Amino acid sequence: MNLALWLHSRALLSPDAPALYTGTRLEATYGQFARRAAALAAYLRSEHGVQAGDRVAIFMPNRVEYLVLLYASWWIGAVAVPVNYKLHAKEAAWIAENAEAALVITDRGNQFAAGELPQSCTELGVETDLAGVVANDAAPLNPPLTLEPHQLAWLFYTSGTTGRPKGVMLTHENLMQMSLCYTVDVDTAGPDDAYLYSAPMSHGAGLYNMVFVRAGGRHVVPESRGFDGAEILELGRTLGNIVMFAAPTMIKRLVTQARTAGATGEGIRSIIYGGGPMYTADLIEALDVLGPRFIQIYGQGESPMTITALPRHIISDRSHPQWEQRLGSVGLAQSCVQVRVVDHAMNDVPTGECGEVVVRGLVVTQGYWRNPAATAETIVNGWLRTGDIGYLSADGFLTLTDRSKDVIISGGTNIYPREVEEVLARHPKVFEVAVVGAPHEEWGEEVVAVIVSRDGQPIDPAELDEWCKAEIASFKKPKRYLFRDEMPKNSYGKIPKIDLREEIKAASGKA
Ligand code: ATP
Repeated sequence: MNLALWLHSRALLSPDAPALYTGTRLEATYGQFARRAAALAAYLRSEHGVQAGDRVAIFMPNRVEYLVLLYASWWIGAVAVPVNYKLHAKEAAWIAENAEAALVITDRGNQFAAGELPQSCTELGVETDLAGVVANDAAPLNPPLTLEPHQLAWLFYTSGTTGRPKGVMLTHENLMQMSLCYTVDVDTAGPDDAYLYSAPMSHGAGLYNMVFVRAGGRHVVPESRGFDGAEILELGRTLGNIVMFAAPTMIKRLVTQARTAGATGEGIRSIIYGGGPMYTADLIEALDVLGPRFIQIYGQGESPMTITALPRHIISDRSHPQWEQRLGSVGLAQSCVQVRVVDHAMNDVPTGECGEVVVRGLVVTQGYWRNPAATAETIVNGWLRTGDIGYLSADGFLTLTDRSKDVIISGGTNIYPREVEEVLARHPKVFEVAVVGAPHEEWGEEVVAVIVSRDGQPIDPAELDEWCKAEIASFKKPKRYLFRDEMPKNSYGKIPKIDLREEIKAASGKA
């Protein structure tokens, strides 16, 4: 077993099929892609002594060489450690140290100051040190090393929205199962499809590469470094059959762009969304503008891409009596996992009642890299505790109410921010909203809503109060509204609520 075998066999089956694109420019066929990976693998082994099990960190923005590097690492059994390129070099060095990486590969080999990286870790630049090797199309196509299913392929550092990043260990078996599950439950992938890397390869969006290598589809890296809605719409029109992943905030931007340009998403076959809550009002707007292209997945680094899915035909079927209710859910368990909702003692809670979502299956991580305490806390009797709170309907649809760490406890009562956010997101003047708990002397915590309005002007709190009162119990209603010009986002487009809470706490302290 080895993920690199998927590339090797694809190169034997269809060597001339187009594989790697930057924008609309074809950079490599499958034959070239595989030979480049094999050449780089041989180089890393012979010149830098990289052995099976060694960690190779990748710290650079999306580019086609990223994919060559991933497969080169797997070719010789090394473990890829993709690091979010928006991190500060010091933070990336912390990850390289934590992973005990032998190499860290960057664009031009000058990302780290002297002494910043651990002594045992060497920095190599793709455009400098590796320039000839990553473009070597003449290397022999020797088969990749045969590995055991449990050998590590990817150390997936969590984005740290709930604390310091932890290295989630993902094996070749985990990622193969995830890829197969994707094609069964999420979307088909075939040789005519093109996967567009519209989000960072170091996170969830990077995992799709395996699915599309296995299927022999095209891999398209946009020219723009950030999320550029105009370029994405144009690539759809030019290349056709585009499949992409977008976090809810990216979809909002794509919808705004499409509205402005009068575009309808032509050539984009599927937009897979997830990674955070997509409010029903936003999803309906996206459907109105871009049509029936949406599929939802719910997953996390610890069970990559794979916990539940809400398929396209359910999202698009407006005539179904439970349509809106289902849009608010994350769908049904994917076929390769078991999903339960449990109480603190890991007993199932009754249908419709909230509890923690736990998952078991061949995609689920073995645990955190060299962190047995965190592993023991998270994997209990073989079940992964997701830290997400939700409930199951009688027909098996899972609805997430919130992350357990984000639940607000006010006067001893649990308030799920997502429920309040859903209500406020429907208000016509609200563009974005995040609800968090702020310390309160009497109640323990109080509900605070941070809002970005559509016209940039504060909204009358009395108006928002009235709006909330019409839909939710008054104890859930925000006690304060704070207006901002922009919502803080991490590089994966998620709102770091931990920072928002700290900010509000610090501001209240000063007041
Ligand atoms: P950390 O684990 O450090 O807090 P993170 O939250 O970014 O980082 P990820 O693995 O990137 O970790 O994100 C997984 C989380 O994102 C899930 O546990 C869930 O809370 C949320 N999430 C993922 N998909 C969905 C979805 N479709 N709807 C709502 N929330 C989702």
